[in-house]
Amino acid sequence: MKVLKFGGTSVGSSSSIKEVAKLVNNNEVNFVVLSAMTGTTNELVSISDCLNNKDQQAANAKIEKLECNYYDVVNALYSTNAFLEKGRELIACHFDYIKSFTQDMFTLYEEKAILAQGELISTALFHFFLQEQNIPSVLVSALNFMRIDKQNEPDTFYIRENLNREMKANPGVKIYITQGFICRNAFGEIDNLKRGGSDYSASIIGQALNAEEIQIWTDIDGMHNNDPRMVENTKPLAQLSFDEAAELAYFGAKILHPSSILPAKIANIPVRLKNTMAPSAEGTLISSEVVGEGIKAIAAKDEITAIKIKSDRMLLAHGFLRKVFEIFETYKTSIDMITTSEVAVSVTIDDIRHLPQIVDELKHYGMVEVDTELSIISIVGNFLNESKGFAFQIFDSLQNIPVRMISYGGSHHNVSVLVNTSDKKEALNAIHNKVF
Ligand code: ASP
Ligand code: MG
Repeated sequence: MKVLKFGGTSVGSSSSIKEVAKLVNNNEVNFVVLSAMTGTTNELVSISDCLNNKDQQAANAKIEKLECNYYDVVNALYSTNAFLEKGRELIACHFDYIKSFTQDMFTLYEEKAILAQGELISTALFHFFLQEQNIPSVLVSALNFMRIDKQNEPDTFYIRENLNREMKANPGVKIYITQGFICRNAFGEIDNLKRGGSDYSASIIGQALNAEEIQIWTDIDGMHNNDPRMVENTKPLAQLSFDEAAELAYFGAKILHPSSILPAKIANIPVRLKNTMAPSAEGTLISSEVVGEGIKAIAAKDEITAIKIKSDRMLLAHGFLRKVFEIFETYKTSIDMITTSEVAVSVTIDDIRHLPQIVDELKHYGMVEVDTELSIISIVGNFLNESKGFAFQIFDSLQNIPVRMISYGGSHHNVSVLVNTSDKKEALNAIHNKVF
């Protein structure tokens, strides 16, 4: 069995939904995970924001507009009266539900219930389309098996048990369909795996079903060797190891949600990135195999904040770093890059929600400096002990760009440099031109 996940643009219009139907109807057993139609989740977020701000009027206008768009999709998607009718009923039902929230108090729970409607609609529309085409399929609600625990981590035991129960209840089916992104939390409430989380859904499902492959279908032909929005002539990568892909996804390659590597890696299931617009293109295969050496790709992550703690007490002292890291741990803030000298340590973070408290506490240990609007540029590949010269290439190419931090040696797969975001584009291009 394969898990096939289609992102928002892959199901973004009636014609792309029809393409997806062709792709999944291939006589293999496929577990299909769908995102909401492109733009929907953003719209639902903005509707929720209006409701939060008690701006009923704006919320109603947005709800109405989105609902209208969906009737257009229904009209273009189905050809029989029966399914046109079913489609319209479905949309009316989900939008009545969304409208029901405009009356009362608006809570975080309600916001999550609203956000879930995007995936619930796309999967139901898709399921109806297959039915209209007489293609047998089963719609399995993610709310019946996908669950996170109190730490917001996937409850793997629960997921495996319940997903397998759902599958056993529907034996002999070739196409199973479910929603990406949405889940229940430890209290049984509707929740989600955070924005972009459909990829994560797919790999959690792949792990639970011990699938033979997890395919992530998007609108680009695999992971590229640099950011195509910043650099010309980037190329798709045919192969990456789990570790290389995780570094790239975490450090900015937008195509894949960074959390989605781990379940696949644990279960050793290959992940294939494919392009719905060009299904025959090879895409990128991510697996346990480490192929080739040297620099494979470059990615950048923005909105990085650097914190420097300088203390004479650090000189020859032990336990200093532990104290510093404990502060970040207290505020559940993860650190991306670290560099140390004998009297100072610099770290970077991207989650600045607790920055003021962190800085206050760090001040007990030394002088604290904070820099914002930084970008981490990650150069990812397979840097064997014998590989020589790549560090020179990287730093040679950056000779005209101020570099704030450098991190190398943490793994065999990553060299990271921290630059001002205003220099990011130039840095990406300079490294690209030098190494590729
Ligand atoms: N629809 C959700 C989002 O836009 C999840 C996803 O597409 O991965 O964030
Ligand atoms: Mg995505």
